[in-house]
Amino acid sequence: MFKKSLLVLLCSFSAYAQAGFDVITLGSKGGIQDGNLTAFLIKDTHDTHDTNYVTLDAGTVVNGLIVADEKQAFKDIKLPKDSPYTKVGYVLREKIKGYLISHAHLDHLAGMIITSPDDSRKYIYGLPSVNGTITETYFNWQAWPNFGNRGQGYQLGKYQYRDLSAQKWLPIKDTYLHAKALPLSHAGIESSAFLIKNNHKQVMVYLGDTGADSVEQSDHLNSLWSTLAPYIKNKQLKGIMIETSFTNKVPERSLYGHLTPKLLLEELAVLEYKAGGKGSLTGLPIVITHIKYSLLKNIDPQSIIKQQLNAGNTFGVTFHFPVQGERFIL
Ligand SMILES: [Zn+2]
Ligand SMILES: [Zn+2]
Repeated sequence: MFKKSLLVLLCSFSAYAQAGFDVITLGSKGGIQDGNLTAFLIKDTHDTHDTNYVTLDAGTVVNGLIVADEKQAFKDIKLPKDSPYTKVGYVLREKIKGYLISHAHLDHLAGMIITSPDDSRKYIYGLPSVNGTITETYFNWQAWPNFGNRGQGYQLGKYQYRDLSAQKWLPIKDTYLHAKALPLSHAGIESSAFLIKNNHKQVMVYLGDTGADSVEQSDHLNSLWSTLAPYIKNKQLKGIMIETSFTNKVPERSLYGHLTPKLLLEELAVLEYKAGGKGSLTGLPIVITHIKYSLLKNIDPQSIIKQQLNAGNTFGVTFHFPVQGERFIL
């Protein structure tokens, strides 16, 4: 099953044949399924010898590593004979070098907090407002011990905060990646989009939770699309990971800073226009994240969202729906 889906992906993304980024899904849902909340591992595909990852959000960490290990996603990583750790422990402690956190909602960082007592020293990358909320709300000796190097009380310093900005590429330490963060509007709080660049001039973008500009009365997505357009024109953009939390049935007043297929398609039209018009997005991989888990009988939001997106796909983009533990290439 895993092999088949990977093969399908590699084939379907063949228009973008020059692989840039290796991604493993640790958690795919936008709530409420604890154990499968938004988190991905990413590394440069050219990084084969030391295989270091950084996460894109961290809603689920250890359970995602367990599922990914069962699905052979780490088969290229050799567990040293003298390591006291399991494969999952080794990947967590030695191969994941940092967490990129898009915003401080629990479904995007619960895994990091819960894992922290047994974690190794790492960096937390985020916009200053996001790092500020993590410092004040969680690592404060009230919600949880302060494992950070900022904030209240004794600072254990296991995690060091690094503030990202829209202006400057920041190296992700001990990886071959660089990151920038652009603000997004998410029902009154600041969320972020991460631009990730490798040393081969290839770029991908991961968006945390976001509403549409039209609903949020914002121009953050508009600015992001303007930033991405030159990378599309230069064939440097390898893919977009973006949320579609709800189906078109959910009214705009009940979206609370999230996207539906209709709103995502409207946003993609803006991006297509900026990237050079009709045909400019053909073959571009769009990875759909954060679909909310449903408790309702006989309702599969993912299949409805898939159908609604494909029905409006006049852009020729390739939609992909990640599965927990699955590895895919952008
Ligand atoms: Zn979320
Ligand atoms: Zn959120």
